[in-house]
Amino acid sequence: MAVKSRCQGISVSFTEPTLLFEYSLDVFPLALNASLYTNYVSNGYMTIEALKMLRDAGLQSIKIDVKGGSDAVRRFCGADVFIVWRNAEAAKNMGMHVEIVNLVIPGVNDDESILKEVVENHIKHLGVDTPIHFTAYYPAYKFKAQPTPVEKLEEAYELAKRFGIKYPYIGNIPGHKYENTYCPNCGHLLIKRVGIFKVDIKITADGKCSNCGGAIPIMLWKGRI
Ligand SMILES: [Zn+2]
Repeated sequence: MAVKSRCQGISVSFTEPTLLFEYSLDVFPLALNASLYTNYVSNGYMTIEALKMLRDAGLQSIKIDVKGGSDAVRRFCGADVFIVWRNAEAAKNMGMHVEIVNLVIPGVNDDESILKEVVENHIKHLGVDTPIHFTAYYPAYKFKAQPTPVEKLEEAYELAKRFGIKYPYIGNIPGHKYENTYCPNCGHLLIKRVGIFKVDIKITADGKCSNCGGAIPIMLWKGRI
């Protein structure tokens, strides 16, 4: 179906993908055979053994939502955020492409000290080249807190930048300038986006900024579009 629909890859998402663990182990080898990429959108709470099995089956990239600092994650998810960071680091060491998301929810995990903890853990476990996305929350189902103010997301973005993260982003605010990728050396606009769409790319074919020539470690998809 993915090939017929001219998709670029297979992403297991919209519920925790480890719930589709066995299915993933079956599907990923078929996907790679058909030159499709493979991705997980995960809470990052699997065992290292499960992560290795996914890697061996062909999982190439993973986006992990850390959901705040250790206190917020313990209080609202009943979980240990250390396991999430451990897995993100392990996935990177296994050769997967890793990106981190932090859904910023007012009154839950939007305190500056929590954002700082997220940024510090990101640098400690993944380094400054790994992208981090601060995404806006909207009220849904039984949770009634107000949507995340854009200023709060901008504050998180700027904090990440100040701490040295080269590729921070804001998410769920379509058309915001921080959805774009900028050169960490000269600030030149490298990838212009609107929502999930890339509308302009200014990275050279050999992976450099078209303005200053600095190396940009971003893989551009060369397959079917
Ligand atoms: Zn540049």
